[in-house]
Amino acid sequence: MKSGKRPGQDWTDQRSVQESKKEGAMAKLTFRTDECKGCGLCVDACPKKILRISPETINKKGHHPAECIDESACIACASCATMCPDCIIKVEK
Ligand code: SF4
Ligand code: SF4
Repeated sequence: MKSGKRPGQDWTDQRSVQESKKEGAMAKLTFRTDECKGCGLCVDACPKKILRISPETINKKGHHPAECIDESACIACASCATMCPDCIIKVEK
């Protein structure tokens, strides 16, 4: 008797495809901290609000530099890197 069901094409397979698409490498942020002038433009540009001007750190130029407080929340949009006038931030996926 024929069932009409094709093996390997059920919803379980569809879900696993969607899940594997969602899984991506986490974004990686790199700051040239010693060159940062602490202007805060990147902080304002970040849609996830995960950048701040470090209250503790002072760099070689005597400025409080920008830093990321939750890299796992970064969506790698690169708005921060685009906004920075001194190309301090590198965003990699
Ligand atoms: S890449 Fe986008 S989300 Fe990530 S820190 Fe920069 S502005 Fe924020
Ligand atoms: S925009 Fe650039 S120079 Fe200004 S705080 Fe951010 S990283 Fe530093």
